[in-house]
Amino acid sequence: MHFEGTVLVEVDGNVVTPHWRGRVPRLPSFDTRSVDSDTPIESVIEEWLERYGRQWVNEFTGSNNKVNCPDGTLVPGDIDPGVPTTATPDIWYCKITGETCPIQALIPTDDEAAFINGCNVENAAEELDRPPKRYKKDLFQAVCSGKFTGEHHMMGREGCWRCQQKRDREDLHDPWALTELYSHLEEETMERKIAFRQAGLESWVGHPICAECFLELPDSFPDIEFSEWGVDFDRYRTVPYRLDFD
Ligand SMILES: [Zn+2]
Repeated sequence: MHFEGTVLVEVDGNVVTPHWRGRVPRLPSFDTRSVDSDTPIESVIEEWLERYGRQWVNEFTGSNNKVNCPDGTLVPGDIDPGVPTTATPDIWYCKITGETCPIQALIPTDDEAAFINGCNVENAAEELDRPPKRYKKDLFQAVCSGKFTGEHHMMGREGCWRCQQKRDREDLHDPWALTELYSHLEEETMERKIAFRQAGLESWVGHPICAECFLELPDSFPDIEFSEWGVDFDRYRTVPYRLDFD
């Protein structure tokens, strides 16, 4: 298995500031002149993710014997992708029942009974192609055999609102591959809020957005002059990363 994507950084002369949303300790700003490498930005990010990213992945795949359920989703059922959800990123829903998942989409691979009792998929039995208990047993087997231990279903990964609007697919990003527009803006002004609201962007400023969609914002919202609100897109770039696991 491997994890890959891009991290957003802001470059001001020699000073580089990575941007991502909490969860995994954020790499502080650094001066590229103090880094002994031909590609200083890439190597500093790689080193940091080798340590903290790897630790985060191990925490969710290793010791606690829990695997994220392939039927889990961060997006509640029957939601219009054009409208922000009120869901916090920590709440997992079930794609089948459309309700909050009682076990938060975490399957304990060492305790089948706990999973069978905890999962409430029978609430939507009519959606299944076999009896709910059979469905759960099959799912448990599939998860234990490693079929779903892949990279896409892990606690702490979140979707990007812009990817979802573009309807790419339900793509979850690593914590260090997401930022939020809010943290890049200058202090709050009414004019800013009005301009953003008119462009349909205001309700999204605090939601996770991936590094690539972030860089596309000026094209996606041409009516907004972002530099007026303190965001100079020329200073940002994405840095690719890849973390390999055995
Ligand atoms: Zn995106």
